[in-house]
Amino acid sequence: MTTCDVAIVGAGPYGLSLAAHLRKAGVSVRQFGLPMQLWRDFMPEGMFLKSQGFASNLSDPDHAHTLEAFCKATGRAYASYGLPVPLDTFVAYGEWFRDKLVPDVEEVLVTDVAQAGGGFEVSLASSEQVRARTVVIAIGVEAFAHVPEPLSALPSSVCTHSSAHTDLGAFKGQNVIVVGAGQSALESAALLHEKGASVQLIARKNKLAWNGPPLPLDRPLPQRLREPESGLGSGWATWFYSNQPGLFRRLPRSTRVQKARTALGPAGATWLRSRVEGQFPALTGLSVGWARMEGGGVRLGLAGADGSSREVAADHVIAATGYRTDLTRLSFLGDQMVSGLRTVAGTGSSVVGRDYQSTVPGLYVIGPAVAPTMGPVMRFVFGSEHAATTVARQLTGGAVSRSRPTVAAGR
Ligand SMILES: Cc1cc2nc3c(=O)[nH]c(=O)nc-3n(C[C@H](O)[C@H](O)[C@H](O)COP(=O)(O)OP(=O)(O)OC[C@H]3O[C@@H](n4cnc5c(N)ncnc54)[C@H](O)[C@@H]3O)c2cc1C
Repeated sequence: MTTCDVAIVGAGPYGLSLAAHLRKAGVSVRQFGLPMQLWRDFMPEGMFLKSQGFASNLSDPDHAHTLEAFCKATGRAYASYGLPVPLDTFVAYGEWFRDKLVPDVEEVLVTDVAQAGGGFEVSLASSEQVRARTVVIAIGVEAFAHVPEPLSALPSSVCTHSSAHTDLGAFKGQNVIVVGAGQSALESAALLHEKGASVQLIARKNKLAWNGPPLPLDRPLPQRLREPESGLGSGWATWFYSNQPGLFRRLPRSTRVQKARTALGPAGATWLRSRVEGQFPALTGLSVGWARMEGGGVRLGLAGADGSSREVAADHVIAATGYRTDLTRLSFLGDQMVSGLRTVAGTGSSVVGRDYQSTVPGLYVIGPAVAPTMGPVMRFVFGSEHAATTVARQLTGGAVSRSRPTVAAGR
């Protein structure tokens, strides 16, 4: 059995960022996972990122491997602010970052992590076992796709989660219902419509919410002070979530849980609005009360808050209903690990200290799985800077520094 100091489970933005810092500091690391898998295999072609260019950087020790540097090196269009980042650019950026900084990611999944001899034994799908002093879990959200009842009772031939589709063109000529009101629902519906499907959007909210257009960067200082711009958007609350995960951690538990779930909640990007409004029917203020198969397709019963009801039918339903993290359901954490892992009450998220260490000594968790402790920034690439530098500092005895990207003036 081989031994390393740190085993990182996951090779998305968080895992790749942490590996870059640890490698630079000379730590012996092994990293497992499929690089940028969520972005490459579970998002629709033609999608754009909602986060701004400057807020879509992976974290690297020299701040040299930014999205901007990648776009410059490869002749792609880039603006720190106001120009949506295409999905294929971001996937290629992640792969470039991997090639340059962490080329030894092992493209294999972890099947088991167990405590052994004061450290951990990590089992891989290749049947190899690795001993590690420290394990960092950076597995993102892809294992936690959530389809609510009653849709969850439908077979996948007529109902799928939005993450099941990279090619929405496959629905050309079909009637498709999209359930949800977030960016993923709105953009999936727009892409389906543009690729020749007949789309209906169904949302519980009475009105679809849209983010405002980017604020001018050169606006007068008083305006900037009233509504500062930050990685996750504008306003003081958003500034706090973006820049102060360590302070967020000190808020009362109920506030943290509520903010982690609802802050920066379902809303479409400003550039998406004209591709949705007036393009296809959006039935708002309605929840799905029942669902059944009908003639090779599906029929849904919808209930309004005012007691009204109606039915809709389609060939297929796409549930763009998000993700529900629950680390206790992870197949690679056995009963012994799960029993030592305290979760934030009311969530399946790990309790972590300010260094991202869980209640299992030596086991760290970074990314969306710790949003109820570190805040909504963990749900975004922007949070990788805080997570990667904090954990790397802890594991290297302080040899890693942090510098926060600011909104660049150039467009
Ligand atoms: C449709 C959609 C759009 C989004 N748009 C944005 C956006 O515009 N901007 C933004 O900041 N955020 C966006 N997000 C949020 C995004 O999920 C996070 O920002 C980011 O991906 C989290 O990175 P991560 O490294 O934690 O996890 P992920 O990117 O999810 O990576 C998970 C990694 O874990 C690996 N893994 C999983 N299981 C195992 C295992 N058993 N063994 C080994 N490895 C494993 C995978 O192979 C993968 O490498 C979006 C999310 C979705 C679903």
